[in-house]
Amino acid sequence: MVDVHDVHKSFGPLEVLRGVDLKVRAGEVTVILGPSGSGKSTLLRTINHLEKVDRGWISVDGELIGYRRSGDKLHELKEKDVLKQRTDIGFVFQNFNLFPHLTVLDNLVEAPVSALRRPRGAAEENARRLLDRVGLADKADAYPRQLSGGQQQRVAIARALALEPKVLLFDEPTSALDPELVGEVLDVIKALARTGTTMIVVTHEIGFAREVADTVVFMDSGVVVEQGPPAAVLDDPGHARTRAFLSKVL
Ligand code: ATP
Ligand code: MG
Repeated sequence: MVDVHDVHKSFGPLEVLRGVDLKVRAGEVTVILGPSGSGKSTLLRTINHLEKVDRGWISVDGELIGYRRSGDKLHELKEKDVLKQRTDIGFVFQNFNLFPHLTVLDNLVEAPVSALRRPRGAAEENARRLLDRVGLADKADAYPRQLSGGQQQRVAIARALALEPKVLLFDEPTSALDPELVGEVLDVIKALARTGTTMIVVTHEIGFAREVADTVVFMDSGVVVEQGPPAAVLDDPGHARTRAFLSKVL
């Protein structure tokens, strides 16, 4: 479903991604772990072309992201075609990024109506169904500031789902939350995993990784150091760098 091939990315002299390869199969959950600055967020951002890669390529469901191929050349897509591709790739941020001036319901309705040209009635119906799924049916008319952080993040997840993405990317979805609110957000992500949603989750929640991930990926200094089933990577890591990281977070 998601294929990251030899991706390189620098910011000026700083090489942040140094040849990342990653394959995520449809219906699977991949958890990415790694120290601060290892390139996890940058990798997620390249997957929906928020960052352009310097080398390598990324495809989602067989479609090259950000470029089209003609012969052996790559041409960058126009902004409107990139936006179209992004509707297939849901992104949930650490800080929720809800539209503060829109109600919860309108946060969910906005993109399907403007980007996918869905009729408003159908988009609202779908939005209410999604709010019910994340346990917030009664908050449709509230504004984001009236909600707790955990509730805002659940709205953000429902908003991402409203575009029926092929894959959902999460960048530390619980790290801005008070500890007592982490569980409710992880529970929503776990429920999505059970329905076969393809997800890539950057998180430091090792318990969540162990329980939910099909594959755990450990990144350090812009490369994938190792990957495999949670039991292999978390309990019997093959690399010293993975062991050193786990000994700090476990
Ligand atoms: P964290 O766990 O702290 O979120 P991360 O693994 O997500 O870290 P990235 O955010 O991908 O790491 O950043 C990797 C490196 O790239 C860092 O040194 C960061 O300062 C740098 N970096 C990221 N984005 C930019 C940018 N737009 N311009 C310059 N440097 C950047
Ligand atoms: Mg990050």
